[in-house]
Amino acid sequence: MSTSLSTDVLIVGGGVAGLWLNARLRQQGYSTVLLERGALGGGQSIKSQGIIHGGTKYALHGALTGASEAIADMPRRWREAIGGAGELDLAGVRLLSDAHYLWSPGTLAGNLTSFFASKAVRSRVEQVKGNALPPALQNARFKGKVYRLSELVLDVPSLIARLAQLAGDSLMAATQIEPLRESGELVGLIVDGVAIRAQRIVLNAGAGNAELLASLGLDQPAMQRRPLHMVIVKSVNLKPLYAHCLGGGTKPRVTVTSHPASDGRWVWYLGGDLAEADGVARSPEAQIEAARRELADLVPWIDLSDAQWATLRVERAEPAQSNQVRPDNAFLAEQGRLLVGWPTKLALAPDFSDRVEAVLTRDGIQPTPHEPLPALPRPPMAKPFWEELLP
Ligand code: FAD
Repeated sequence: MSTSLSTDVLIVGGGVAGLWLNARLRQQGYSTVLLERGALGGGQSIKSQGIIHGGTKYALHGALTGASEAIADMPRRWREAIGGAGELDLAGVRLLSDAHYLWSPGTLAGNLTSFFASKAVRSRVEQVKGNALPPALQNARFKGKVYRLSELVLDVPSLIARLAQLAGDSLMAATQIEPLRESGELVGLIVDGVAIRAQRIVLNAGAGNAELLASLGLDQPAMQRRPLHMVIVKSVNLKPLYAHCLGGGTKPRVTVTSHPASDGRWVWYLGGDLAEADGVARSPEAQIEAARRELADLVPWIDLSDAQWATLRVERAEPAQSNQVRPDNAFLAEQGRLLVGWPTKLALAPDFSDRVEAVLTRDGIQPTPHEPLPALPRPPMAKPFWEELLP
Protein backbone atom coordinates (compact mmCIF):
# COMPACT_ATOMS: atom_id res chain seq x y z
CA MET A 1 0.00 0.00 0.00
CA SER A 2 1.12 3.56 -0.68
CA THR A 3 2.61 5.34 2.33
CA SER A 4 0.34 8.35 2.04
CA LEU A 5 -3.37 8.87 1.44
CA SER A 6 -5.74 11.76 1.62
CA THR A 7 -9.42 11.92 2.43
CA ASP A 8 -11.99 14.56 3.40
CA VAL A 9 -12.82 13.21 6.84
CA LEU A 10 -10.79 10.72 8.84
CA ILE A 11 -12.90 8.98 11.49
CA VAL A 12 -11.39 7.06 14.40
CA GLY A 13 -13.58 4.40 16.01
CA GLY A 14 -15.95 1.89 14.41
CA GLY A 15 -18.75 1.85 16.96
CA VAL A 16 -22.23 3.09 16.16
CA ALA A 17 -21.14 6.76 16.29
CA GLY A 18 -18.33 6.40 13.76
CA LEU A 19 -20.19 4.02 11.48
CA TRP A 20 -23.33 6.18 11.36
CA LEU A 21 -21.29 9.33 10.73
CA ASN A 22 -19.25 7.59 8.07
CA ALA A 23 -22.37 6.40 6.23
CA ARG A 24 -23.93 9.87 6.36
CA LEU A 25 -20.81 11.62 5.06
CA ARG A 26 -20.31 9.12 2.23
CA GLN A 27 -23.93 9.63 1.24
CA GLN A 28 -23.20 13.36 0.93
CA GLY A 29 -20.24 12.71 -1.33
CA TYR A 30 -17.40 13.12 1.15
CA SER A 31 -14.52 10.72 0.96
CA THR A 32 -13.84 9.13 4.33
CA VAL A 33 -11.57 6.61 6.01
CA LEU A 34 -12.74 5.00 9.25
CA LEU A 35 -10.07 3.48 11.51
CA GLU A 36 -10.89 0.64 13.91
CA ARG A 37 -8.35 -1.07 16.12
CA GLY A 38 -10.51 -3.97 17.30
CA ALA A 39 -13.76 -5.29 15.86
CA LEU A 40 -16.51 -3.11 14.37
CA GLY A 41 -19.14 -2.54 17.05
CA GLY A 42 -17.03 -4.43 19.59
CA GLY A 43 -16.79 -1.57 22.12
CA GLN A 44 -19.92 -0.46 23.95
CA SER A 45 -22.17 -0.67 20.89
CA ILE A 46 -22.67 -4.41 20.64
CA LYS A 47 -22.94 -4.62 24.45
CA SER A 48 -25.72 -2.05 24.56
CA GLN A 49 -29.32 -3.06 25.10
CA GLY A 50 -30.31 -1.57 21.74
CA ILE A 51 -33.13 0.59 23.10
CA ILE A 52 -33.87 3.66 21.01
CA HIS A 53 -34.90 5.88 23.88
CA GLY A 54 -37.18 8.78 23.29
CA GLY A 55 -36.31 10.18 26.69
CA THR A 56 -39.44 8.99 28.47
CA LYS A 57 -37.40 7.15 31.11
CA TYR A 58 -35.81 10.41 32.18
CA ALA A 59 -39.22 11.81 32.99
CA LEU A 60 -39.22 9.54 36.04
CA HIS A 61 -37.29 12.40 37.66
CA GLY A 62 -40.31 14.67 37.20
CA ALA A 63 -41.01 16.85 34.18
CA LEU A 64 -38.98 16.25 31.05
CA THR A 65 -35.99 18.55 30.93
CA GLY A 66 -35.05 20.57 27.88
CA ALA A 67 -32.11 18.26 27.29
CA SER A 68 -34.22 15.15 27.33
CA GLU A 69 -36.62 16.75 24.84
CA ALA A 70 -33.69 16.67 22.37
CA ILE A 71 -33.77 12.88 22.42
CA ALA A 72 -37.52 12.75 21.82
CA ASP A 73 -37.15 12.70 18.03
CA MET A 74 -34.77 9.73 17.93
CA PRO A 75 -37.38 6.93 17.73
CA ARG A 76 -38.94 8.61 14.66
CA ARG A 77 -35.58 9.05 12.93
CA TRP A 78 -34.55 5.46 13.55
CA ARG A 79 -37.97 4.13 12.61
CA GLU A 80 -37.78 5.92 9.25
CA ALA A 81 -34.22 4.71 8.63
CA ILE A 82 -35.21 1.11 9.39
CA GLY A 83 -38.24 1.51 7.15
CA GLY A 84 -35.81 2.38 4.33
CA ALA A 85 -37.13 5.94 4.00
CA GLY A 86 -34.95 7.85 6.43
CA GLU A 87 -31.62 9.66 6.45
CA LEU A 88 -29.81 6.31 6.05
CA ASP A 89 -31.19 3.19 4.42
CA LEU A 90 -31.24 0.72 7.31
CA ALA A 91 -33.80 -1.60 5.73
CA GLY A 92 -32.87 -5.11 6.79
CA VAL A 93 -31.81 -4.14 10.32
CA ARG A 94 -33.75 -6.42 12.64
CA LEU A 95 -36.25 -4.70 14.86
CA LEU A 96 -36.48 -6.77 18.05
CA SER A 97 -39.42 -4.84 19.42
CA ASP A 98 -41.59 -2.02 18.22
CA ALA A 99 -42.02 -0.83 21.80
CA HIS A 100 -40.27 -0.74 25.13
CA TYR A 101 -42.39 -1.14 28.23
CA LEU A 102 -42.46 0.45 31.63
CA TRP A 103 -43.43 -2.09 34.22
CA SER A 104 -44.42 -1.22 37.73
CA PRO A 105 -44.61 -4.43 39.78
CA GLY A 106 -47.18 -4.76 42.58
CA THR A 107 -48.69 -1.55 43.82
CA LEU A 108 -45.83 0.86 43.26
CA ALA A 109 -48.16 3.57 41.98
CA GLY A 110 -46.27 6.20 43.97
CA ASN A 111 -43.21 6.36 41.77
CA LEU A 112 -45.35 6.88 38.71
CA THR A 113 -47.09 9.97 40.04
CA SER A 114 -44.35 12.42 39.14
CA PHE A 115 -43.84 10.56 35.88
CA PHE A 116 -47.43 11.07 34.76
CA ALA A 117 -47.41 14.64 36.03
CA SER A 118 -45.75 15.55 32.74
CA LYS A 119 -48.17 16.16 29.90
CA ALA A 120 -45.49 15.22 27.39
CA VAL A 121 -45.31 11.80 29.01
CA ARG A 122 -49.06 11.27 29.17
CA SER A 123 -49.26 11.75 25.43
CA ARG A 124 -46.52 9.20 24.78
CA VAL A 125 -47.46 6.22 26.90
CA GLU A 126 -50.46 3.93 27.09
CA GLN A 127 -51.32 1.23 29.59
CA VAL A 128 -51.50 -2.33 28.27
CA LYS A 129 -53.36 -5.31 29.73
CA GLY A 130 -54.19 -8.94 28.99
CA ASN A 131 -53.13 -10.14 25.55
CA ALA A 132 -51.38 -6.85 24.84
CA LEU A 133 -48.90 -7.51 27.66
CA PRO A 134 -45.38 -8.55 26.61
CA PRO A 135 -45.38 -12.38 26.18
CA ALA A 136 -43.20 -13.00 29.25
CA LEU A 137 -45.70 -11.19 31.49
CA GLN A 138 -48.83 -12.92 30.22
CA ASN A 139 -49.45 -15.08 33.27
CA ALA A 140 -52.28 -15.35 35.77
CA ARG A 141 -49.79 -14.61 38.58
CA PHE A 142 -48.68 -11.34 37.03
CA LYS A 143 -49.47 -8.30 39.16
CA GLY A 144 -48.67 -4.71 38.42
CA LYS A 145 -49.08 -2.16 35.70
CA VAL A 146 -47.43 -2.04 32.29
CA TYR A 147 -47.18 0.97 30.00
CA ARG A 148 -46.12 0.88 26.39
CA LEU A 149 -43.50 3.43 25.38
CA SER A 150 -43.12 4.28 21.74
CA GLU A 151 -39.41 3.33 21.79
CA LEU A 152 -37.82 0.71 19.56
CA VAL A 153 -35.37 -2.03 20.41
CA LEU A 154 -32.87 -2.97 17.71
CA ASP A 155 -30.78 -6.03 17.09
CA VAL A 156 -27.40 -4.29 17.31
CA PRO A 157 -25.36 -6.95 15.45
CA SER A 158 -27.58 -6.48 12.37
CA LEU A 159 -27.32 -2.69 12.72
CA ILE A 160 -23.52 -2.83 12.79
CA ALA A 161 -23.49 -5.20 9.80
CA ARG A 162 -25.68 -2.83 7.77
CA LEU A 163 -23.63 0.25 8.69
CA ALA A 164 -20.44 -1.64 7.77
CA GLN A 165 -22.02 -2.41 4.39
CA LEU A 166 -22.78 1.28 3.87
CA ALA A 167 -19.11 2.01 4.63
CA GLY A 168 -18.03 0.42 1.33
CA ASP A 169 -14.24 0.44 1.02
CA SER A 170 -13.65 3.11 3.68
CA LEU A 171 -12.93 0.81 6.66
CA MET A 172 -9.35 0.30 7.81
CA ALA A 173 -7.96 -1.88 10.59
CA ALA A 174 -5.49 0.25 12.56
CA THR A 175 -3.05 -0.74 15.26
CA GLN A 176 -0.83 2.25 15.78
CA ILE A 177 -2.03 5.82 15.37
CA GLU A 178 0.26 8.84 15.64
CA PRO A 179 -0.28 12.51 14.86
CA LEU A 180 0.69 13.89 11.45
CA ARG A 181 1.72 17.51 11.90
CA GLU A 182 2.81 20.20 9.48
CA SER A 183 4.20 23.46 10.84
CA GLY A 184 2.91 22.41 14.26
CA GLU A 185 -0.67 21.93 13.00
CA LEU A 186 -2.42 18.56 13.08
CA VAL A 187 -3.21 17.73 9.43
CA GLY A 188 -3.90 14.01 9.69
CA LEU A 189 -2.79 10.79 11.33
CA ILE A 190 -0.04 8.29 10.67
CA VAL A 191 -1.72 4.92 10.75
CA ASP A 192 0.59 1.91 10.91
CA GLY A 193 3.12 3.87 8.90
CA VAL A 194 0.64 5.29 6.36
CA ALA A 195 0.26 9.10 6.47
CA ILE A 196 -3.43 9.99 6.02
CA ARG A 197 -4.18 13.68 5.46
CA ALA A 198 -7.70 14.95 6.03
CA GLN A 199 -9.66 18.18 6.13
CA ARG A 200 -11.14 17.10 9.47
CA ILE A 201 -10.32 14.29 11.92
CA VAL A 202 -13.11 12.98 14.14
CA LEU A 203 -12.32 10.94 17.26
CA ASN A 204 -15.36 8.86 18.28
CA ALA A 205 -13.52 5.95 19.77
CA GLY A 206 -15.65 5.57 22.92
CA ALA A 207 -13.44 4.70 25.88
CA GLY A 208 -10.45 4.93 23.50
CA ASN A 209 -10.86 8.71 23.10
CA ALA A 210 -8.90 9.52 26.28
CA GLU A 211 -5.86 7.55 25.14
CA LEU A 212 -6.05 8.99 21.62
CA LEU A 213 -6.22 12.53 23.00
CA ALA A 214 -3.23 11.81 25.24
CA SER A 215 -1.27 10.58 22.20
CA LEU A 216 -2.02 13.94 20.57
CA GLY A 217 -0.79 15.74 23.70
CA LEU A 218 -4.33 16.81 24.73
CA ASP A 219 -6.21 16.28 27.99
CA GLN A 220 -9.50 17.92 27.00
CA PRO A 221 -12.35 17.13 26.66
CA ALA A 222 -12.19 15.02 29.82
CA MET A 223 -13.91 11.64 29.78
CA GLN A 224 -15.80 9.72 32.44
CA ARG A 225 -16.24 5.97 32.60
CA ARG A 226 -19.32 4.45 34.22
CA PRO A 227 -18.73 0.79 35.05
CA LEU A 228 -21.63 -1.65 34.79
CA HIS A 229 -21.94 -5.32 35.74
CA MET A 230 -24.60 -6.74 33.42
CA VAL A 231 -26.13 -10.22 33.65
CA ILE A 232 -27.23 -12.57 30.87
CA VAL A 233 -29.45 -15.59 31.24
CA LYS A 234 -30.50 -18.13 28.60
CA SER A 235 -33.31 -20.65 28.99
CA VAL A 236 -35.82 -22.55 26.86
CA ASN A 237 -38.51 -21.00 29.05
CA LEU A 238 -37.72 -17.36 28.32
CA LYS A 239 -40.00 -15.36 26.07
CA PRO A 240 -39.17 -11.89 24.81
CA LEU A 241 -39.42 -8.99 27.22
CA TYR A 242 -38.27 -5.42 26.69
CA ALA A 243 -39.00 -3.43 29.82
CA HIS A 244 -37.80 -1.12 32.51
CA CYS A 245 -39.01 -2.61 35.76
CA LEU A 246 -39.48 0.17 38.26
CA GLY A 247 -38.26 0.03 41.84
CA GLY A 248 -38.77 2.63 44.53
CA GLY A 249 -36.37 5.21 43.05
CA THR A 250 -36.01 7.16 39.87
CA LYS A 251 -33.82 4.55 38.16
CA PRO A 252 -35.25 1.32 36.79
CA ARG A 253 -34.69 -1.57 39.22
CA VAL A 254 -33.93 -3.85 36.27
CA THR A 255 -33.95 -3.14 32.55
CA VAL A 256 -34.58 -6.32 30.55
CA THR A 257 -33.95 -6.78 26.84
CA SER A 258 -34.16 -10.08 24.97
CA HIS A 259 -31.79 -11.26 22.25
CA PRO A 260 -32.10 -14.24 19.91
CA ALA A 261 -29.34 -16.83 20.34
CA SER A 262 -28.24 -18.96 17.40
CA ASP A 263 -29.67 -22.10 19.10
CA GLY A 264 -33.17 -20.60 18.91
CA ARG A 265 -33.39 -19.70 22.60
CA TRP A 266 -33.85 -16.23 24.03
CA VAL A 267 -31.17 -14.55 26.08
CA TRP A 268 -32.32 -11.99 28.61
CA TYR A 269 -29.84 -9.16 29.14
CA LEU A 270 -30.30 -7.50 32.51
CA GLY A 271 -29.17 -3.98 33.33
CA GLY A 272 -30.63 -1.03 35.23
CA ASP A 273 -29.92 -0.55 38.92
CA LEU A 274 -28.94 -4.22 39.24
CA ALA A 275 -25.86 -3.51 37.10
CA GLU A 276 -24.85 -0.23 38.75
CA ALA A 277 -22.81 0.54 41.92
CA ASP A 278 -23.76 -2.41 44.19
CA GLY A 279 -23.75 -4.74 41.22
CA VAL A 280 -20.33 -3.51 40.12
CA ALA A 281 -18.97 -4.27 43.61
CA ARG A 282 -20.30 -7.86 43.52
CA SER A 283 -18.31 -10.84 42.29
CA PRO A 284 -19.79 -12.50 39.17
CA GLU A 285 -21.20 -15.31 41.36
CA ALA A 286 -22.83 -12.85 43.78
CA GLN A 287 -24.17 -10.80 40.86
CA ILE A 288 -25.76 -13.89 39.30
CA GLU A 289 -27.30 -14.72 42.66
CA ALA A 290 -28.70 -11.16 42.93
CA ALA A 291 -30.17 -11.47 39.42
CA ARG A 292 -31.71 -14.86 40.24
CA ARG A 293 -33.40 -13.34 43.30
CA GLU A 294 -34.73 -10.41 41.26
CA LEU A 295 -36.24 -12.69 38.62
CA ALA A 296 -37.65 -15.07 41.25
CA ASP A 297 -39.35 -12.07 42.83
CA LEU A 298 -40.53 -10.38 39.63
CA VAL A 299 -41.41 -13.29 37.32
CA PRO A 300 -41.82 -16.29 39.69
CA TRP A 301 -43.81 -18.22 37.05
CA ILE A 302 -40.78 -18.59 34.78
CA ASP A 303 -38.95 -21.85 35.43
CA LEU A 304 -35.25 -21.08 35.20
CA SER A 305 -33.98 -24.43 36.46
CA ASP A 306 -32.29 -25.12 33.08
CA ALA A 307 -30.90 -21.58 32.77
CA GLN A 308 -27.31 -20.73 31.89
CA TRP A 309 -26.01 -17.52 33.47
CA ALA A 310 -23.05 -15.21 32.92
CA THR A 311 -22.07 -11.65 33.73
CA LEU A 312 -20.46 -8.99 31.60
CA ARG A 313 -18.44 -6.08 32.93
CA VAL A 314 -18.53 -3.09 30.61
CA GLU A 315 -17.90 0.63 30.98
CA ARG A 316 -19.89 3.42 29.44
CA ALA A 317 -17.61 6.18 28.17
CA GLU A 318 -18.96 9.73 28.17
CA PRO A 319 -17.80 13.32 28.48
CA ALA A 320 -16.99 14.07 32.13
CA GLN A 321 -19.98 15.47 34.02
CA SER A 322 -20.21 16.78 37.54
CA ASN A 323 -21.34 14.03 39.97
CA GLN A 324 -21.06 11.40 37.23
CA VAL A 325 -24.56 12.32 36.04
CA ARG A 326 -25.67 11.03 32.68
CA PRO A 327 -25.48 13.37 29.75
CA ASP A 328 -28.69 13.46 27.68
CA ASN A 329 -27.23 14.66 24.38
CA ALA A 330 -24.48 13.72 22.02
CA PHE A 331 -21.33 15.67 22.82
CA LEU A 332 -18.80 17.18 20.42
CA ALA A 333 -15.76 19.38 21.12
CA GLU A 334 -13.43 20.96 18.55
CA GLN A 335 -9.86 22.05 18.32
CA GLY A 336 -8.56 23.10 14.91
CA ARG A 337 -9.11 20.22 12.49
CA LEU A 338 -9.82 17.85 15.33
CA LEU A 339 -13.34 16.99 16.49
CA VAL A 340 -13.82 14.73 19.53
CA GLY A 341 -17.00 13.33 20.97
CA TRP A 342 -19.28 10.68 22.37
CA PRO A 343 -22.88 10.02 21.32
CA THR A 344 -23.51 9.08 25.00
CA LYS A 345 -26.24 6.68 23.78
CA LEU A 346 -26.58 4.42 20.80
CA ALA A 347 -29.93 6.14 20.16
CA LEU A 348 -28.11 9.47 19.81
CA ALA A 349 -25.77 8.43 16.97
CA PRO A 350 -27.86 10.58 14.56
CA ASP A 351 -27.50 13.56 16.92
CA PHE A 352 -23.73 13.03 17.05
CA SER A 353 -23.61 12.97 13.26
CA ASP A 354 -25.75 16.14 13.06
CA ARG A 355 -23.22 17.93 15.23
CA VAL A 356 -20.27 16.92 13.05
CA GLU A 357 -22.16 17.79 9.86
CA ALA A 358 -23.04 21.20 11.31
CA VAL A 359 -19.33 21.92 11.90
CA LEU A 360 -18.43 20.87 8.34
CA THR A 361 -21.15 23.14 6.95
CA ARG A 362 -20.12 26.04 9.18
CA ASP A 363 -16.48 25.67 8.14
CA GLY A 364 -17.31 25.33 4.43
CA ILE A 365 -15.76 21.86 4.21
CA GLN A 366 -16.84 20.45 0.84
CA PRO A 367 -16.26 17.05 -0.72
CA THR A 368 -13.08 17.27 -2.82
CA PRO A 369 -11.76 14.94 -5.56
CA HIS A 370 -9.54 12.13 -4.23
CA GLU A 371 -7.69 9.22 -5.75
CA PRO A 372 -9.69 6.00 -5.22
CA LEU A 373 -8.60 4.30 -1.99
CA PRO A 374 -6.28 1.32 -2.27
CA ALA A 375 -7.51 -1.94 -0.73
CA LEU A 376 -7.33 -1.26 3.00
CA PRO A 377 -6.94 -3.96 5.69
CA ARG A 378 -10.56 -4.45 6.78
CA PRO A 379 -11.39 -4.74 10.50
CA PRO A 380 -13.46 -7.77 11.59
CA MET A 381 -17.08 -7.56 12.77
CA ALA A 382 -17.79 -8.04 16.49
CA LYS A 383 -19.68 -11.21 17.40
CA PRO A 384 -22.70 -11.07 19.71
CA PHE A 385 -21.23 -11.40 23.21
CA TRP A 386 -23.97 -13.81 24.32
CA GLU A 387 -22.78 -16.36 21.78
CA GLU A 388 -19.31 -16.20 23.32
CA LEU A 389 -20.38 -16.12 26.98
CA LEU A 390 -23.18 -18.71 26.70
CA PRO A 391 -22.21 -20.95 23.76
P1 FAD B 1 -18.09 2.29 20.99
O1 FAD B 1 -19.20 1.40 20.59
O2 FAD B 1 -17.42 1.98 22.29
O3 FAD B 1 -17.06 2.26 19.80
C1 FAD B 1 -15.78 2.81 19.87
C2 FAD B 1 -14.89 2.04 18.91
O4 FAD B 1 -13.63 2.69 18.85
C3 FAD B 1 -14.63 0.61 19.35
O5 FAD B 1 -14.96 -0.26 18.29
C4 FAD B 1 -13.14 0.59 19.67
O6 FAD B 1 -12.52 -0.65 19.36
C5 FAD B 1 -12.63 1.71 18.78
N1 FAD B 1 -11.37 2.28 19.26
C6 FAD B 1 -11.00 2.59 20.53
N2 FAD B 1 -9.77 3.10 20.55
C7 FAD B 1 -9.34 3.13 19.26
C8 FAD B 1 -8.14 3.55 18.65
N3 FAD B 1 -7.11 4.04 19.35
N4 FAD B 1 -8.03 3.42 17.32
C9 FAD B 1 -9.05 2.92 16.56
N5 FAD B 1 -10.22 2.50 17.10
C10 FAD B 1 -10.36 2.61 18.44
N6 FAD B 1 -27.46 3.33 24.47
C11 FAD B 1 -28.74 3.37 23.98
O7 FAD B 1 -29.10 4.30 23.27
N7 FAD B 1 -29.63 2.40 24.28
C12 FAD B 1 -29.33 1.35 25.08
O8 FAD B 1 -30.17 0.47 25.31
C13 FAD B 1 -28.02 1.30 25.62
N8 FAD B 1 -27.67 0.28 26.44
C14 FAD B 1 -26.39 0.21 26.90
C15 FAD B 1 -26.04 -0.88 27.72
C16 FAD B 1 -24.73 -1.01 28.16
C17 FAD B 1 -24.38 -2.18 29.03
C18 FAD B 1 -23.76 -0.07 27.77
C19 FAD B 1 -22.35 -0.21 28.21
C20 FAD B 1 -24.11 1.02 26.99
C21 FAD B 1 -25.42 1.16 26.55
N9 FAD B 1 -25.80 2.24 25.74
C22 FAD B 1 -27.09 2.31 25.27
C23 FAD B 1 -24.83 3.27 25.36
C24 FAD B 1 -24.26 2.96 23.99
O9 FAD B 1 -23.84 1.63 23.92
C25 FAD B 1 -23.08 3.88 23.69
O10 FAD B 1 -23.39 5.22 23.97
C26 FAD B 1 -22.67 3.78 22.22
O11 FAD B 1 -22.61 2.43 21.79
C27 FAD B 1 -21.32 4.44 22.04
O12 FAD B 1 -20.95 4.29 20.69
P2 FAD B 1 -19.49 4.73 20.24
O13 FAD B 1 -19.42 4.45 18.78
O14 FAD B 1 -19.20 6.09 20.72
O15 FAD B 1 -18.50 3.82 21.08
